[in-house]
Amino acid sequence: MHELRHSHSLILGGGLAGALLALLLAQRGLQVHVLERRADPRRAAQERGRSINLALAARGIDALEFAGLMPAIQPLLMPMRGRHLHEADGSQHFLSYGQRPEEEIYAISRHALNCALLDAAAAHPGVTLSFGQRCVEIEPAHGTVAFEDMGHGTIRREQADVVLACDGAGSVARRTMVDRGLCEAREEWLPHGYIELTIPADAEGRHRLAADALHIWPRGGYMLIALPNPDGSFTCTLFLPYDADPGFTQLREAAAVETFFRARFPDTLALMPELVPEFLANPVGRLGTVRTRPWHAEGRLLLLGDAAHPIVPFHGQGMNCAFEDCRDLARLIDAHGADWPTLLPAFEALRRPSAEAIADMALENYVEMRDTVRDPRFALKKALAFELERAFPAQFIPRYSMVMFHPEISYAEAQRRGARQDVLLEELTAGCQSLEEIDLAQARRRAQEQFARPSGA
Ligand SMILES: Cc1cc2nc3c(=O)[nH]c(=O)nc-3n(C[C@H](O)[C@H](O)[C@H](O)COP(=O)(O)OP(=O)(O)OC[C@H]3O[C@@H](n4cnc5c(N)ncnc54)[C@H](O)[C@@H]3O)c2cc1C
Repeated sequence: MHELRHSHSLILGGGLAGALLALLLAQRGLQVHVLERRADPRRAAQERGRSINLALAARGIDALEFAGLMPAIQPLLMPMRGRHLHEADGSQHFLSYGQRPEEEIYAISRHALNCALLDAAAAHPGVTLSFGQRCVEIEPAHGTVAFEDMGHGTIRREQADVVLACDGAGSVARRTMVDRGLCEAREEWLPHGYIELTIPADAEGRHRLAADALHIWPRGGYMLIALPNPDGSFTCTLFLPYDADPGFTQLREAAAVETFFRARFPDTLALMPELVPEFLANPVGRLGTVRTRPWHAEGRLLLLGDAAHPIVPFHGQGMNCAFEDCRDLARLIDAHGADWPTLLPAFEALRRPSAEAIADMALENYVEMRDTVRDPRFALKKALAFELERAFPAQFIPRYSMVMFHPEISYAEAQRRGARQDVLLEELTAGCQSLEEIDLAQARRRAQEQFARPSGA
């Protein structure tokens, strides 16, 4: 161990949450030091096999706007208006996400977004960024962190008023808290993993599929999805069980991979010329939810973003939720000052209900994306929900829309309202095949009785 440095706030991890939080804290006059394990992504090539692009929605945008970052981020966005479904029989159809033109989500490169956030943080005089520095040990009671220089192997220590752990799903800070009995973390792994693949641009550099949609090949117990990139390519992700038929354990050889895709996703073979070598070279990632309690220790250590609440990616909300965490911590500082022992529990009380709600809704959305989305009843309920939203735009908003397009409604509130709405939608669509069979006047009356009461009712 060498010298002990002191900084006001230490952020572990310069990923998506860490970089945004650094900027937000510096904007509030704090001195911030960010320690990131990787090399500076602005000077290094993009990492492989780690959700190359992501869906950014209104909650994430709201937080980025709060930091004044949207002018820098806007040019990186690829709008997606809905889900473009590719059925097993080759038929295709489009299901819009929302019903207003602005109700779209955006594909964005993780690498480009992280670089833009780091650029903005680095430009602020209150932020120091250190790359190639891996946190190896934390002493929560003293706010001391030991980190290893990845180039030289040397260990240094730094002490801070507060340590804000944005070190992602495999957080060292969370592990330290668990090991010392300072928190409990319940890990729930899915029996499914994921692998990333590429649909390259065509010879003219154009997208080979409609670029304004998230493409899904739903197949019941598994699915393939594709999000557009600005260079004409798509990043695809296959979500599949490990030990099932079909499953990853059966797909270890070229012939098996090709046979699987030919049988289950025949229309993708012509789109993915490098499918087999890519499949065999890329890692299979794990998917899970971690429920941690509490998120803070000793008035000096706080977990945020994936470090506090890793969730499965099926609602495309992990980053959006992490950005909301950053914004809400900044708002608490605005309201109460940087009194960490008071702020850390207040932050958890504010964010926990929402983190728990989106964790559950993300799990539910897996079933929707890979399965329910193919059910005509799903389309009917969605059409009726849109109909009721048109009649009562403030009171009846489809749950998906609340999560994706309404940052003013918390995840927890979206989950509560969504559950009540679903009971009504189930009832009104029972035994019906199409919207024409539903008595819309009665549906509106029922919705009005239940949802259009004065607030507080
Ligand atoms: C397949 C997949 C698809 C996804 N799609 C979406 C999507 O469409 N929309 C969405 O909103 N979310 C999505 N997510 C979730 C999203 O990736 C995460 O929620 C988001 O990255 C969380 O940000 P974070 O900053 O908390 O963690 P991360 O982005 O993981 O950043 C953590 C940082 O900490 C660094 N670090 C880790 N350990 C240490 C250490 N010991 N010392 C120093 N630094 C360290 C890492 O190098 C990294 O830079 C997806 C996730 C997966 C797996």
